[in-house]
Amino acid sequence: MKLYNTLSKQLEEVPKKDHLNVYTCGPTVYNYAHIGNLRSYIVADLLFRSLKHEGFNPKWVMNITDIDDKTIKGTVEKYGAQANVENLREFTKFYYDEFLKDLHKVKVSVEDITFVRVTDVIPQIQEFIVELINKGYAYKAEDGSVYFSIEKYQKDFNDYGELVGEKFLEGKKVGARVAVDEYEKDNLSDFALWKAHNSESDAQIFWDHPLLGKGRPGWHIECSVINRVAFSGEVTDIHTGGVDLIFPHHTNEIAQSQALLGKGNFVKHWCHCEHLMVDDKKMAKRDGKFLQLSDMAEKVPLPGEALRYLFTQSSYRMRQNFTWESFLGAYKAVEKLFNTLASHKIIGENQPEQADILKEYLAMAKQALDDDMNIPAFVAALWESFGHLAANLRTQDEIAKKFDEVLGLGLINPPSILENIELPEAAANLVKARQAAREAKDFAKSDELRKEIEALGFEVKDTAEGQKIRKKISI
Ligand code: AMP
Ligand code: ZN
Repeated sequence: MKLYNTLSKQLEEVPKKDHLNVYTCGPTVYNYAHIGNLRSYIVADLLFRSLKHEGFNPKWVMNITDIDDKTIKGTVEKYGAQANVENLREFTKFYYDEFLKDLHKVKVSVEDITFVRVTDVIPQIQEFIVELINKGYAYKAEDGSVYFSIEKYQKDFNDYGELVGEKFLEGKKVGARVAVDEYEKDNLSDFALWKAHNSESDAQIFWDHPLLGKGRPGWHIECSVINRVAFSGEVTDIHTGGVDLIFPHHTNEIAQSQALLGKGNFVKHWCHCEHLMVDDKKMAKRDGKFLQLSDMAEKVPLPGEALRYLFTQSSYRMRQNFTWESFLGAYKAVEKLFNTLASHKIIGENQPEQADILKEYLAMAKQALDDDMNIPAFVAALWESFGHLAANLRTQDEIAKKFDEVLGLGLINPPSILENIELPEAAANLVKARQAAREAKDFAKSDELRKEIEALGFEVKDTAEGQKIRKKISI
């Protein structure tokens, strides 16, 4: 299997090893995730499943950023000037839980991920920073914070910014310092590893350390440390994240870790997911205006599956533009897949499987995955197989089962979309009343009730097994 490596700027073969350590930069839990964030995690999940499907043995770790400028701000806003670490943990736990719920809904393999909250590894972070100080790569400045020295790093490694590209350093001066967690490309700055406690902005949120003093970790150091801790010092085989993390976050991760481990001993392969745009514009949490999974749920049943399917429609290395039309198209495709598979449950079992055809489509699927995880081609192969196999439902079922190892849509036990909704009480009562009217053969009343149900945003279909209700799809 070949994957594009942001570091070498080439397609590289995924190595066959006993296991592969896979690390994904997780969310900053101060707010709900937007669908752009979800794209990057769904892509990471497609990679994890592809690796498993292809016989690799991936171990997946994700950090949860529960301490940074934004989580502190949110905590202080909620708990006031006396806010402490416990309050921070409580504030961020809420968004961490919401994040997990979203991941479940979009069918990310949550049970296979080891999540590490940054506030659970503070001693290990402190230890890492002390090691950097001892080796001369970090220093305490007049403001009491500890910074990473890019000058010293450059002297020894001369590769800072390599992940961005060869020309990254051109026209840039080493030397300034930056304390905030997020900063722009043109500052080539020593960044904070340990930020001195500031009682005005940080309330009582800090950890103490004999050498570092009262403070808290900067953003970048956490991932260097969690890679080391979670993989017990082994090399990280594949590190994923969104493209916005290439600089400064991943660039700084590399500098911190290589400073201790030596060149090439941190991450072998960097895999970056391009951004999701909405109506051709960038979507960011800090704009306060972003689409969430809950917005999708107002429009269609199975919003998580629909969104997941939508993200299989472009390569992870391409920007994808979200529109409601494309989302509705994705929903329709999912509905068709589910309805097709649900309809052949019994017939399929009575047919012999056509092993040769199955093999042919699995080979097509493999070819797509091996080509830099070409999921759109992979999905196209699934549809093509359905077209060819209209007469052999058993083989269709088998193909869907194998393809779903990667897609993770739940094709093996497709939910019946007609039955898969929870009705609000008012609608449920109308449905019951309509059932009674139908049993009493009062069709005028039944029609009237149908209109009332529809006015609440549902559609009614009369089938041999009685009424089936579904949400009216409105985009
Ligand atoms: P954050 O919670 O802001 O740290 O972001 C979590 C993840 O989402 C990171 O991997 C980001 O690179 C990624 N991300 C942020 N915005 C987008 C977007 N519009 N499209 C795809 N990924 C994104
Ligand atoms: Zn990270």
